[in-house]
Amino acid sequence: MVGGLTAGLAVSSSALAKSSHTAKSKMAFYHLHTGESLETSTYANGDFSVQSLKEVNYLLRDHRTDEVIDIDTQLLSLLSDLKQLLGTSKPFHIISGYRSPATNNMLSQKSNGVAKKSLHMQGKAIDIRIPGMDTKQVHKGALALQGGGVGLYSKSDFIHLDVGNVRYWGS
Ligand SMILES: [Zn+2]
Repeated sequence: MVGGLTAGLAVSSSALAKSSHTAKSKMAFYHLHTGESLETSTYANGDFSVQSLKEVNYLLRDHRTDEVIDIDTQLLSLLSDLKQLLGTSKPFHIISGYRSPATNNMLSQKSNGVAKKSLHMQGKAIDIRIPGMDTKQVHKGALALQGGGVGLYSKSDFIHLDVGNVRYWGS
């Protein structure tokens, strides 16, 4: 009797674990520089499958040098949280994902807005906008999540999001 009860509980808890692992939500990206799109899905907790990660890492590569690195999964979870918070099904438009040191160096010489030790070089930062949504609203959502650094670039109409220390800049 006791044994049967225990076995029953074991089955139901593993079924629960399985359902939360397989429940999926969609994530979509469109890279403005390469014109490439990607639609993928995450598990309920915001994790990506190994195959999806490969595709995301490639999409977010340094488009100038074609170098690919592993994008920080914490950053991807943050994007997933942001999407949920904003309640949008629109793709994230990518302005910049990974930047190789050479690319970052070149950009930082051209613009004061590019940090020399940018987290883009570690796959921990991304510059985005969402089509049809006010960037100020996206910015508000990102601030509310407190997942790292958030920069607003109103003139260029995008926000920078990273998983470094929580800090804010821009206008
Ligand atoms: Zn950035």
